[in-house]
Amino acid sequence: MKKIIIAMDGYSSSGKSTMARSLAEMIGYTYVDTGAMYRAVTLYCLQNDLIRSQEVNEEEIKQALPYINISFCINKETGRPETFLNGENVEKEIRSMKVANHVSTIAALPYVRQALVAMQQKMGEKKGLVMDGRDVGTVVFPEAELKIFVTADPEIRARRRYEELIAKGTPASFEEVLTNIKERDHMDTTRTEGPLKKASDALVLDNSDMTINEQMEWLLVQYKKKVGD
Ligand code: C5P
Repeated sequence: MKKIIIAMDGYSSSGKSTMARSLAEMIGYTYVDTGAMYRAVTLYCLQNDLIRSQEVNEEEIKQALPYINISFCINKETGRPETFLNGENVEKEIRSMKVANHVSTIAALPYVRQALVAMQQKMGEKKGLVMDGRDVGTVVFPEAELKIFVTADPEIRARRRYEELIAKGTPASFEEVLTNIKERDHMDTTRTEGPLKKASDALVLDNSDMTINEQMEWLLVQYKKKVGD
């Protein structure tokens, strides 16, 4: 069967990563979470004192970029990819509220985007890829065969994210999560470089009132239509 590129973009905590990862597992594709890459760069900046309160030192970050190595490795127990920063597993740290509170500032820096987009494009050279993010269908792979744009009501997204964090034992309050989601939505949609926006040929999925099973069923139908199964 022909291999394609599937781009899943959408708002923060819209459930696109869960859908993208599950789809990749079902159809034997590679899954790439581009949000994890922006989070890893942010974690590096925090660890190395390149973000002081809300101020970022742009020149220092630019110079640090060649020293930031991001990779993914499959966890043998869960079968899921985990994020490594310079050889260290940072999967848990990159999901913290501290990283969430700074990631959209770092992701708006044009040279950070250019470096990560180039890495992402390399990952898709052989196709057979499901990639989720904000600009996958518009900037990274404008020629992707299947593009999905995922959205849901902000309160519903915040509730899901909050419950996920609590389940993992990560401290958070619902209000803090909702504020963070709204702020990231705003920053992600209004930045100049690679803003979050629906590609003109993307299919929209509002999953506010859908179960994960319903979403997966819908997604599989779209995939099969594209590969002609
Ligand atoms: O997907 P996730 O919520 O983990 O992404 C974290 C942040 O990384 C987003 O809020 C956004 O600022 C940034 N991001 C981006 N472009 C992508 C993926 C994520 O700017 N392709």
